[in-house]
Amino acid sequence: MKEGIHPNYQECKVTCACGNTFTTKSNAPEMRVDICSECHPFFTGQQKFANRGGRVEKFKNKYNL
Ligand SMILES: [Zn+2]
Repeated sequence: MKEGIHPNYQECKVTCACGNTFTTKSNAPEMRVDICSECHPFFTGQQKFANRGGRVEKFKNKYNL
């Protein structure tokens, strides 16, 4: 890995609306997403969009947002 090519490319903590967190590489230190590999229907094979609002509300309550 060469140094200095991507000066802002760093570990990025991603928080999903479903409550899942994971890290990736990005030029931002943190980001929020609505869909991740844990809850995206493409990955889970289930349709969860119908409950999405409720899930987000639960997430907000959990973290007192
Ligand atoms: Zn998710």
